Parts: sequence; structure tokens; C-alpha cells
Amino acid sequence: MSLRVGIVGAGIGGLALAHALRRRGIDVTVYDRDAGPDATDGYRLHLTEAAFAALAGVLPESSMRALRDCGAGNDAFRQFAVIDHRGRTRLRIPVRHSGEVLLIGRRPLRTILARGLDDIIRWDTPVTGWTRSADGVVLADGARYDVLIAADGTGSTIARRWLGRSTAQRSGVIGIAGRSALPQRVPADLHTGLAFMIGPGGVGAFLSLHGKQGRDPAAERPYVVWSVAARAESPGADLAGQVHRWTSGWSADFHTLVDRSEVGSLAAFPFYFPAALRPWPAGPVTLLGDAIHPMPPTAGAGASTAILDAAHLADDLATRPVREALAAYQSRLLTYAPPAVDEARPALRWQGRLGNPLVRALAVRAVLPSVDAGLALWGRLRALPAVRTAARR
Ligand SMILES: Cc1cc2nc3c(=O)[nH]c(=O)nc-3n(C[C@H](O)[C@H](O)[C@H](O)COP(=O)(O)OP(=O)(O)OC[C@H]3O[C@@H](n4cnc5c(N)ncnc54)[C@H](O)[C@@H]3O)c2cc1C
Repeated sequence: MSLRVGIVGAGIGGLALAHALRRRGIDVTVYDRDAGPDATDGYRLHLTEAAFAALAGVLPESSMRALRDCGAGNDAFRQFAVIDHRGRTRLRIPVRHSGEVLLIGRRPLRTILARGLDDIIRWDTPVTGWTRSADGVVLADGARYDVLIAADGTGSTIARRWLGRSTAQRSGVIGIAGRSALPQRVPADLHTGLAFMIGPGGVGAFLSLHGKQGRDPAAERPYVVWSVAARAESPGADLAGQVHRWTSGWSADFHTLVDRSEVGSLAAFPFYFPAALRPWPAGPVTLLGDAIHPMPPTAGAGASTAILDAAHLADDLATRPVREALAAYQSRLLTYAPPAVDEARPALRWQGRLGNPLVRALAVRAVLPSVDAGLALWGRLRALPAVRTAARR
């Protein structure tokens, strides 16, 4: 009899896995507590070259077209700008791509990933446990699976039950984010990339422009996403008020952006790290995505890493006996997920250091402008034919 896989969580990783398994002919059912794919908040996610290529390997061509229509590609992410709290750009870091990347809202991404899976997704169905059977697990609805995948995101209930501990640990930083209708003046740097603003007191903000109106029904209207992060225990009840307090003294343009946020678009989210990213008991339950490696959005790698997990797990389940497949999957995951989590750490460390007024003054007035000048000079040098040839060698 063919392998039966149950997935808890129709998020980004769970849906990518469902496509990948189905394509390999494996029998799969997905459960989610949400009422449907568009019943989600969330802002713009970044899919790396590797994640986008992995999706191209498992999605139908029509879904790949829809993703490109609803998202923005390499041209929208050519640089990363560092802007001070007065709105002056201090540093532009060029970003080079080795393949196709995608910047896309969480809602359109999830909606498109759910296409073609209607017959195997059970919406409105939370799963919090299972009973063990001789050959796998049995869920409350009586369904039997050889393997159950915890793809239920940060703070996973399934992972907690399987491991007897939480897989997520708070970082001490809280983000508050919102989506704003396009302001009259969009900072020029947002047309070609993402921006990070640094302000006094270790408060930082992330800005990203979605300037495109796609034709697919899942497409979103143009907007700017802003997200402010600060060390705090709790965001408080008045999110907009908290953002204004955290960013007091910042440019008027930034405050206007916050005030133009779409009604109901503000949300607070603590940043998490994995509690312990180490081998876990292999099978019949295994873990995928934020359920095992939650990470702050500072590296923009949460969705991409979940998609890579999905591609690897499907490959392993399709080509090896179950126990061997689950062991191979987690030993591979433990090679690339910890570095992905580590990439999110420096931004948070720097945010802490920049809370010191002296370090911040030095960084903003001296270090960032010198690095910027150095990068500009390197860009000009690279344009010279002799340097181009030497750099290629
Ligand atoms: C609401 C939301 C907004 C986000 N916004 C951003 C953002 O703006 N920027 C960013 O970089 N990252 C954001 N993230 C994180 C990013 O989407 C994840 O890092 C990435 O999607 C990882 O994918 P995943 O499949 O592991 O988990 P998720 O995509 O989080 O999927 C988990 C799924 O599990 C479901 N679930 C949870 N518990 C149960 C249960 N008991 N039974 C059934 N289903 C359950 C949830 O409904 C969800 O659909 C957001 C996550 C969420 C949940």
C-alpha cells in the first residue's frame, strides 16, 4: 500500500510539501485551523533563489505564472539601503542574485500555493494530538497516517507534544508592522530594494514597497510595508501609539506612513529563535519549517527555509524506506537551517548595540558613510574592463 502522509498546517511549508508529495504520487492530507487560504495576516515575504527554484520543481506552470504576477522579482531587490531616522540614506548595499527571487505578500503566496489542493486540504480543522498505532498515527477524525508532519508554525503544538518541550524561544524583541496605502512620496531607495531604518534607543524599522498591481485574483493593491522592532516585553494594546512612542523624533514622513496604515493591518509579533535546534526522535512524527526552526524576520528566510524543508522531505520520502527517509531529512535539515537562523542574529545584535548613543553616532556618521563610499568606489572599479576580467578569474 502506498505511503499515507498527514500534514498539520497549510502554511507555506505545509502546502509546498503537499504539492511535492502529490507530484511523487504519495497520498497526502493537509489540516489547518484557518477557514481558508486567505484567512491570514502577514506582509511581504522573501523567497530566495533556492526556494523559488524548489517551488518551480513542484508547482504547476499556471501557479508559477500567478506567483510572478502577484509578486515582484529581482529588479525590485537590487539593493539594501540603510537609512537614518531622519530619512537620509547612509548606505546602499548592492544585492546580486544567482537566480530568480520573489517578494510576495503572505496572503497571495498562500492562496496560490493552495490552488489545486482543494480535495486534500481540510480547512477549519485544528489538530492538536494523535494516538500511536502499530504502523503510524491515528487522528481524532479516525484517519490513519504512516507519517504525521508538524508544519504548524512557531510554537507548534504538535512539536511540543512529540518532543515534550517547546521548539520556540522568545528573543526579547517585539515587532509591530502595518501596511500603508502608497504615500505621495515614496523613498526612492524602495523602488529598487528594501530598506532598514535605524533610530536612537536601539529601535529599527524595515520598509518594503509593493508597487505592482497584478491581474491574478490573488493580487494585492500597491502598498508599503513598515515594521518597527524594539526590545520590549509586550507591545501594549495601542499598537499605533506604541510605534509613535518608539519612533519619537523620527522623520515626519515615517509617522505619516504609520498613520496611513490600512485599518486592521497593524499586528504585533514577538521575534522567536529555536529553543534548541538538534536531532529529534525520527518518526512517525516529524517537524518542518517554523515548527522546528522559528526565526526572526530579520534575515527574511523563514518561508524559504520551510520550502526547502518541504522539497527535501518529499525527495527523501519518495526515494527511501520511511524510517531512513525521516533520519536523512533531519540530518540534512540540520546542515542548512542553523546557518539560516544565524543569519537573523547580527541584525538583532546590531540593533542592541546601536541602542548605545555613542556607538550609534559613530556608526551613522562615520562607519556607514565610509562603507557606502567604499562600495560606490568598488562599483566604479568593477566597471573597468581590466578589473572585471580579474574579478571573473
Ligand atoms: C499570520 C502570520 C503572518 C506572518 N507574517 C510574516 C511577515 O510579514 N514576514 C515574514 O518574514 N514572516 C511572516 N510570517 C512567518 C512566515 O510566514 C513563516 O516563517 C513561514 O511561512 C514558515 O512557514 P511554515 O509553513 O513553517 O509556517 P506557517 O506559514 O506559519 O504555517 C503554519 C500553519 O499552521 C496552522 N496551524 C497552527 N496550529 C495548527 C493546529 N493546531 N492545527 C491545524 N493547523 C494549525 C496555521 O494556521 C498556519 O497556516 C508570518 C506567519 C504567520 C502565521
